[in-house]
Amino acid sequence: MKKATFLALVAMVFSLSLNALTLGKLGNFKFEKVNKYVWIMHGPPENPSVENEGFMNNPSFVEGKNGTIVIDPGGNYNVGKKIVAEYKKATNKPVLAILNTHKHGDHWFAGKAFAEAYPNAQSYAHPNMIKAAKDGDARLWYNILEGLSKNLKGTDGPFPFPTKVLKDGDILKVDGHTFKIFHPERAHTDTDILIEHVESNVLWLGDNLMDCRLGGMDESSSVYGNIELLEDIINQRNGYRKYDLYVPGHGPSNEMHKVIDPFLNYFKTVLKWAKKAYKDGKESYEVKANVAAELKDYQSWDEFDRQMGKHLMKAFSEVEAKDF
Ligand SMILES: [Zn+2]
Repeated sequence: MKKATFLALVAMVFSLSLNALTLGKLGNFKFEKVNKYVWIMHGPPENPSVENEGFMNNPSFVEGKNGTIVIDPGGNYNVGKKIVAEYKKATNKPVLAILNTHKHGDHWFAGKAFAEAYPNAQSYAHPNMIKAAKDGDARLWYNILEGLSKNLKGTDGPFPFPTKVLKDGDILKVDGHTFKIFHPERAHTDTDILIEHVESNVLWLGDNLMDCRLGGMDESSSVYGNIELLEDIINQRNGYRKYDLYVPGHGPSNEMHKVIDPFLNYFKTVLKWAKKAYKDGKESYEVKANVAAELKDYQSWDEFDRQMGKHLMKAFSEVEAKDF
């Protein structure tokens, strides 16, 4: 090989590695092909930080003949540009559609970078998601994520609000691919959609399922609803089938029981102790140590210390409300 060619090659490899999505000590992230049509970039499951640049979800895409359908593009505009760069290494096809699982900005804010690269892409979400995002949740999440990652600049003005709606039972066809939409009334939030890709038999659950991490629940969430939903999925009720792969909102994808059972068991344990506290006339914090002891295997999950007590309080208030 001529010296000039060799140097050009070195320069090219070097510039490619510079463009890789490398997040501090967390390593390199790229889209990986999990079956004939589906690619997933599993982000780090830790809370947004300066180190992870606010990237911690699982952006995915389904590859059609002429273009792709992206699911949950990522957490902000700036890291989104790096996710788009990774996307372009995986395929040279344009993005035709973006499907957003729920209102939390760590999942949909990078839609801005995708829209910039692919202006014809249509962005979809449940109507509750679009309304909540516009009514203040986009700004709320901008502030939360900016506080943690300092990387949100450019994500607003305007936010990449979805414009097309998806409702429970809808079948969306794009480029020969079929997506079946589920909307649980109240689970992780009241804005969620779960997405079945029929041709590859994969289910995206958004934040109704997490692995290796716990996330916040708000006034639109329901511990009861989240448990019921995961039990419906495991028991293949309400239209859910048996899937080859289950994709959580955060953490690694896996087969059904391996990825759903730990998270379901977590919430069931929290609810069990909330019920016991209520029955015994105690406050939720009085059983917190019991819950922590029973869930000691979950201590390594990101945010366990901060979220478990809040989930217990939330479950307690739901138990209380059911009694009235
Ligand atoms: Zn969420």
